[in-house]
Amino acid sequence: MCGIVGYIGQKKALPIVLDGLQRLEYRGYDSAGFALFSETGFVIKRNTGPVNGLVEASAGLGETENQGIAHTRWATHGAPTERNAHPHVAGNLVIVHNGIIENYAQLKTFLTSKEVTFASDTDTEVFAQLIEFNRKEIAEANPSVSPEEILKTALEFSMKEAVGHYSILVMDKSIPGKIFGIQNGAPLVVSKLSDGCLIASDVQAILPYHNQVCFLPQGKIFSLSTDCPEEADLKHETIEWSPSLTEKDGFESFMLKEIFEQPSSISDSLVGRLPTLANSNFSWDQGKSHEVLWRNVRKIYLIACGTSYHAALTAKYFFEKWAQV
Ligand code: GLU
Repeated sequence: MCGIVGYIGQKKALPIVLDGLQRLEYRGYDSAGFALFSETGFVIKRNTGPVNGLVEASAGLGETENQGIAHTRWATHGAPTERNAHPHVAGNLVIVHNGIIENYAQLKTFLTSKEVTFASDTDTEVFAQLIEFNRKEIAEANPSVSPEEILKTALEFSMKEAVGHYSILVMDKSIPGKIFGIQNGAPLVVSKLSDGCLIASDVQAILPYHNQVCFLPQGKIFSLSTDCPEEADLKHETIEWSPSLTEKDGFESFMLKEIFEQPSSISDSLVGRLPTLANSNFSWDQGKSHEVLWRNVRKIYLIACGTSYHAALTAKYFFEKWAQV
């Protein structure tokens, strides 16, 4: 599915995050984008279609910035257009997000009542605006607290208010040299490089740079700087797979990998679409229902086709093996 990459260090961030997106391309996506931290504000580019298009559109950018976040999107809320592509900006913040915010409709109604306006149709922007709303409220009430502490508190509040399954990376224009994040049911992996810190939704984007990675704990707010990660209790582990085995998650072939991924692909497609508890406050967004339904039906159809195709190939493979015996 979608992918996230972030870098902060001594090198130029743009080539590193674009390279990471390209390594995650196999996951399938409809648009891509990045945000670089610069002293004069964020440098942001979004594009529909392949990462190559984004690479071309970014010619001449990223010559100096050494901090950035990037994303490939598989649209769940809002059509796959440039305005809905990530990153999304909300006040001081820029954010990339994998996953779904299930109660985005209620949160959007609340934020609209507080005169927050939206530039996209995504659940992601709702989450970004919620964090920004909380950040501003906390900052106003606590003028002597540092911007970093304020953002972390805002992230903590927002995690309690947002229901869903997500991983996000956030940069705040008043906090140079830091990338913040949270993961809740969607993975993020970080690696301390000799020149900085690399974070991604999958080890594929990291292994060409380093084979020591740290799978971040769920539900915890983290901040990354050049000396990442700051949290002392995070332990790195060594990934022994070769890059080609890593691409296949350790399986012998893409076919086997995809066969074993089918249960998680189906459950990922349905997450946020069905109430998890009989008494949950899940609400179906009528306005978006046709779009959501269409995207899910298409995914399940593709998975079903893939399943029968793989089943046929697997049968053929075992039949040929057996015939040789
Ligand atoms: N739900 C978000 C969107 O539709 C993120 C999708 C993704 O994981 O790429 O933009």
